[in-house]
Amino acid sequence: MPAAAPAAAERPATAPMLAVDAIDTFYGETQALFGASVDVAAGEVVALLGPNGAGKTTLLRSVLGLTPPRRGRVRFDGRDVTGWPTHRIARLGLGWVPDDRRVFPSLTASRNLEIAAKRTRFPARSVASCCELFPALAHLLPRECENLSGGEMQMVSISRALVGAPGLVLFDEPSQGLAPKVVQDVMRTILRLRDEGIASLVVDQNVRTVLDVADRVFVIRLGRIVHAGPAAGLREDPAARRDLLGID
Ligand code: ATP
Repeated sequence: MPAAAPAAAERPATAPMLAVDAIDTFYGETQALFGASVDVAAGEVVALLGPNGAGKTTLLRSVLGLTPPRRGRVRFDGRDVTGWPTHRIARLGLGWVPDDRRVFPSLTASRNLEIAAKRTRFPARSVASCCELFPALAHLLPRECENLSGGEMQMVSISRALVGAPGLVLFDEPSQGLAPKVVQDVMRTILRLRDEGIASLVVDQNVRTVLDVADRVFVIRLGRIVHAGPAAGLREDPAARRDLLGID
């Protein structure tokens, strides 16, 4: 496993890359988020944890403009992006690795990356640099994505987010359905991105694995943020883990 992340308190204070401020998000008349606030500093890894149906994906969708909040604000990299269309937010440098990976199945991996390449104010990343992160990617480039395994598709999906030159990547269940070795590769990638100053907001059921790489943690239940604090607090305190997350 990757080395434990330093506690948030050891990291320099910076203006938030992402500030989600008291959002209420609805599906029709059904309210899914209630005054939820989450923030991610530049280069920080933040985990959003909670049981099924708690609102984790909805919070990511709210940030991305896919399900815009009815009340509250979303600020990304100093701009109020509340209500902006997704493609416009992405152009500012917000990356997304969706839970179903959502690559174009009939296109090659190479073409999927080509389509997603963008320039933002953050450092550009080439396909060659993605191949350094994921050595196996080079062999996948000419292949159609529908023929890839789940782990291979995840490499393409993460690389697709990275060629979009993000300052922050939203990961929705990145370890879902993957072999333990691939999960470790994904977590190592999140740490490498952090070393490069790229922040991540990670939603994952694989709580222990995510706690190992996160600087800070938010816990959400029934659409409300019920805890925020350094990941070390939960890594080292089984009673707190049981209390907040229901695991030992
Ligand atoms: P999971 O880990 O199961 O994906 P989650 O924490 O990501 O859970 P969400 O998917 O955000 O939770 O769901 C939050 C609430 O919103 C749930 O009550 C869910 O049933 C509801 N919900 C999610 N998507 C929709 C939708 N498209 N239409 C109506 N309700 C929805």
